Amino acid sequence: HAKHLGGNTFQFFTDNLQACTVERLQLENQLRKGIEQGQLEVFYQPKLCLADDSINSAEALVRWRRPEQGLVSPGDFIGLAEETGLIGAIGEFVLRKACQQARDWQRQGLADLRVSVNISVHQLRKGNLTSLVRQVLDETGLPARLLELELTESQLLDNVENVITTFRQLRELGVKLAIDDFGTGYSSLSYLKRFPVDYVKIDQTFIRDLSVGGEDAAITRAIIAMAHSLELKVVAEGVETQAQMDFLKSQQCDEVQGYLISRPVEAQVFVELLKEQAATLWR
Ligand code: C2E
Ligand code: MG
Ligand code: MG
Ligand code: MG
Repeated sequence: HAKHLGGNTFQFFTDNLQACTVERLQLENQLRKGIEQGQLEVFYQPKLCLADDSINSAEALVRWRRPEQGLVSPGDFIGLAEETGLIGAIGEFVLRKACQQARDWQRQGLADLRVSVNISVHQLRKGNLTSLVRQVLDETGLPARLLELELTESQLLDNVENVITTFRQLRELGVKLAIDDFGTGYSSLSYLKRFPVDYVKIDQTFIRDLSVGGEDAAITRAIIAMAHSLELKVVAEGVETQAQMDFLKSQQCDEVQGYLISRPVEAQVFVELLKEQAATLWR
């Protein structure tokens, strides 16, 4: 259709498309090299259990430390990694690193911290996720109950049967499962019931305007009530203010995660957080 606009425009579109393709190819190659050269790092963000104001778990979030550009967020390369298949290597790296780290913390006598790892549905399609998880748990010695896997609601809805089968296997191992970014994927109540999961993570878009007390507060209240009636625990993501925290507490939300408690940090910094987790900090 660009042709109808005249030769120059067509040329413009073609060049643009090629530039994009070249850029993507370069990025893909750099990411592949980066993985091989150990440029990936795992950051940890605490989740606070509201029943006793304690940090009881950590979400593992990948970062890419590029020599020139510095720290790159997953939002800038996970999509590409999924399209190119590199997500397999990235996912395996993060899983292994996070399990080693949680096992280290346990050995240091810090706490029995649950660690959660994001997984992409592409890892599940390959069909060997369960055996990889079993292998990594064996290798690291981390008890399965201390590992949680998060899958976004939209990805789970794209592959219902496949997801349910794999989730059943993982649960048999004793691993915990969570639906991430819940509320954005248009799933119905009956769907939620079909997935054998332990946690629902309310998407941060609903938490953002909570203090206003409007629609998002009503949605959040409904998600918590519904999840609890299905005997699922609820985590709220993106908690940045005390007002949001107070509302979530008043609604019996189980855990909160967000900048109010801490940004995602490197493992050494996370240990400091744990050590100084004087309950007064979050009262
Ligand atoms: P997610 O799993 O929903 O993770 C939560 C994201 O929200 C993280 O962004 C976190 O830094 C950010 N966040 C946490 N608290 C707050 C807050 O109070 N305010 C705001 N504005 N943001 C907050 P991050 O680390 O950039 O990760 C983005 C997404 O990338 C993740 O969303 C997850 O879907 C994906 N991702 C990260 N690591 C991995 C990984 O190892 N594998 C896969 N497949 N995906 C990953
Ligand atoms: Mg997550
Ligand atoms: Mg999320
Ligand atoms: Mg997300």
